[in-house]
Amino acid sequence: MLGLDVRSVIVIAGIMSLMMAVALYFMKRNYPPSIEGLAEWATAPAILFVAALLFGARGRIPDALSIVVANLLLFSGTALLYFGSQRFFGLRQSIRLWSATILCVMPPLAWFAVVAPHHGVRVTITAGFMAVLSLTHARLVMARGPRTFSTYFTGGALLTLTAAQVLRFAESLQLPAVDGALDNTSPGQGAYVSVYAFSVLAATIGMILMATDRLRGELEHLATHDSLTGCLNRRALIEACALELARCRRNQQVMSLLLLDLDHFKAVNDTHGHLVGDRVLVDFADRVRALLRVPDRLGRFGGEEFVVLLPETSLDKARVVAERIRRDIEQADGDLPRRTVSIGVTVSFPDDPDLDGLLARADAALYQAKEGGRNRVETVALPVS
Ligand code: GH3
Ligand code: MG
Ligand code: MG
Repeated sequence: MLGLDVRSVIVIAGIMSLMMAVALYFMKRNYPPSIEGLAEWATAPAILFVAALLFGARGRIPDALSIVVANLLLFSGTALLYFGSQRFFGLRQSIRLWSATILCVMPPLAWFAVVAPHHGVRVTITAGFMAVLSLTHARLVMARGPRTFSTYFTGGALLTLTAAQVLRFAESLQLPAVDGALDNTSPGQGAYVSVYAFSVLAATIGMILMATDRLRGELEHLATHDSLTGCLNRRALIEACALELARCRRNQQVMSLLLLDLDHFKAVNDTHGHLVGDRVLVDFADRVRALLRVPDRLGRFGGEEFVVLLPETSLDKARVVAERIRRDIEQADGDLPRRTVSIGVTVSFPDDPDLDGLLARADAALYQAKEGGRNRVETVALPVS
């Protein structure tokens, strides 16, 4: 096995675990608390490091330590990795179930380590437990993770770990009672220890990748969404509109734009306070979103002004959508003050040079709606001069 004896492989694997623990610990410190599970993911490899040191000292320290305590730490560390994944995916941790399982597995393991030593039976127990836990963990990651490289990498590592444990379990049924205490190991044992060490290492690297993916997603969301209402912010909305306009030009299609402005919103703030004003904005965005289709986009343009982008939508259809929104807001009840919205509607032209013209027309339509008495929908189809 690469010229390394099993004992060295175990200790090297332990040191690698410790390095992963350090990396994950710093991620836990620096990543936002919304990314959960990092504490468990950081602590688990540290426990596995101690386990590796004890396993590595087999034959030089009492078996109670190098077998019983080491396996207890191995089981706990591996279960903790799984609990971290459960937290990461927002699930309840099954701590009781796995603690109980470990408690059931430990007495026979201790018996066959110290009282009536039997190598084969010990391996049957440990490999059986580890196979079930690794498979459960792999299934969780594959079922819950997004379809990204980091998910497949972590899931693949955990499945490799499972496969190694299953093979080890099958082999254990023929293992003799006495083993070489790491000084006289079989090729199978060496291969098993190596696969185990590297798949655990790969799994923790995969967890780092998954957490980084999650962070990138959160930062992307922060950069493109309005923090109060959750809809697109001005920049992202303009980007989406410009993209859609370019697509329209290429495919000779049209898109429509709604510019929505809450009526007398200043009065809502003045009468009911800013917090109620904020709730009105959130409620407004929720209501509009509920009335839109999947390709439609809602953005907050600023203050109490919103924009709806309707791809592949004619002016007539856009007007219907706008009227539906206006009526929904007018009729909304609940504990919030009554409110209405004015909406300017326009449609793109094949020769619209850029978004500015479209926005100017929507603005002109909105102005007409305000002038016309508010709580209205107005359209401007022709280019405004
Ligand atoms: P109009 O019908 O002409 O649109 O009148 P209006 O009062 O809605 O318009 P105006 O532009 O005078 O006032 C907009 C108000 O929106 C003023 C500002 O305090 C409020 N506003 C802007 N952003 C926020 C916000 O994030 N939260 C709250 N609560 N109010 C906001
Ligand atoms: Mg307003
Ligand atoms: Mg306004």
